[in-house]
Amino acid sequence: MSSAEAVAVQEVTSKVTYRFNDGVEFEAISGEGDTLLDVARNNEVPIVHQCLTGSCASCICRVDTGDVSMDSDRVMSLLPSEAREGFRLTCTAYADTDCVVDLDYPSTFSEDHAASQSVITIEELEWVNHNTVRITAELDEDAEMENFEAGQYVQLKVPGTEEWRSYSMSSTVRDLPELTFYIRVLDDGVMSNYLRDRAAVGDTLEIDGPYGVFYLREEKVPQIMIAGGTGLAPMMSMIDTLRLSNFRRKPVILAFGCSFEKDLFAQDELELRGNWMRNLDVRTCVSRPEGDWDGLTMRAQYSITKDDITEDTIAYLCGPPAMNEAAREHLEELGVKGENIHVELFDTAHA
Ligand SMILES: Cc1cc2nc3c(=O)[nH]c(=O)nc-3n(C[C@H](O)[C@H](O)[C@H](O)COP(=O)(O)OP(=O)(O)OC[C@H]3O[C@@H](n4cnc5c(N)ncnc54)[C@H](O)[C@@H]3O)c2cc1C
Repeated sequence: MSSAEAVAVQEVTSKVTYRFNDGVEFEAISGEGDTLLDVARNNEVPIVHQCLTGSCASCICRVDTGDVSMDSDRVMSLLPSEAREGFRLTCTAYADTDCVVDLDYPSTFSEDHAASQSVITIEELEWVNHNTVRITAELDEDAEMENFEAGQYVQLKVPGTEEWRSYSMSSTVRDLPELTFYIRVLDDGVMSNYLRDRAAVGDTLEIDGPYGVFYLREEKVPQIMIAGGTGLAPMMSMIDTLRLSNFRRKPVILAFGCSFEKDLFAQDELELRGNWMRNLDVRTCVSRPEGDWDGLTMRAQYSITKDDITEDTIAYLCGPPAMNEAAREHLEELGVKGENIHVELFDTAHA
């Protein structure tokens, strides 16, 4: 290679520093066309990732210094407000200059939560409203899933197809070998059609996981959870984890919202948890009530007010994109720090 060519190659490389929240840093050189995730994987930097297509948001990072562009056609799971605040999905992001990016989990997280493959057998399949199914399934006895965190998800293979879909556990590790899911059944969709037309108790499904970095963080701070529809699933797992840990002094607020009253579900389960946990405040909201609804009439995020926020509040959002975006904006206006807001989007693209 001539020296002119060597200079040209050098000009398209950037140094990427990956900084994990336990203080561990990795440095690697990015070549032209490499995503931040390519660079990490080529250099054994332990970034959590799963879909590689911008759909699951597992590989999220936040840019501290430098310029990091993104392939905006492929960032389905990043909110516009997150992008403005410097969040990037490493599978669709490119280092334009030397940069430092933060990963909000320890450098040991991906090893400690490594995915494994197994099967589950459906034990119960209950329609909890007109379009939502609650599945209780038993995990194969050889499976290794004791490592999942409340809030994480798994991939399930739709029986009779080669298609995989992502679902968050609503149960906790303490419930193993049982796993519970709340799944919205769409008018048309591979998993939805299976659940509506063919699913039965005794069916087995392949499972792969756990995945994701949407998980219960610090337990000893006030928690705010805002859930839309089946976005309630990961929150149920987090609430039960908080309930089972012996630390119950800080307030936990769950704002659960649906458009119509008929879309609500799990009301008994939430009431039970409200009775068990004195620090849990459940605010169930309906935004377009019909008939004699006498509960909160608003979008769930607006049931959270300034009085609910403290300096160390951590918030979790899981719902449709518009809810996540509005909730994030609302919480930041109330004073929740951007880095303390964790978002999961149930993107219906094939994550
Ligand atoms: C991290 C994560 C966690 C999740 N957790 C949950 C959960 O706990 N509960 C839950 O209910 N959901 C969850 N989801 C969503 C879930 O993974 C599925 O996307 C959802 O269940 C729809 O799957 P499906 O197979 O029924 O529909 P799909 O077959 O994926 O179809 C989805 C929609 O796209 C349309 N569509 C399909 N193919 C095409 C096409 N070629 N052109 C145009 N339109 C098309 C369908 O008509 C349908 O309306 C999660 C998603 C992610 C990313």
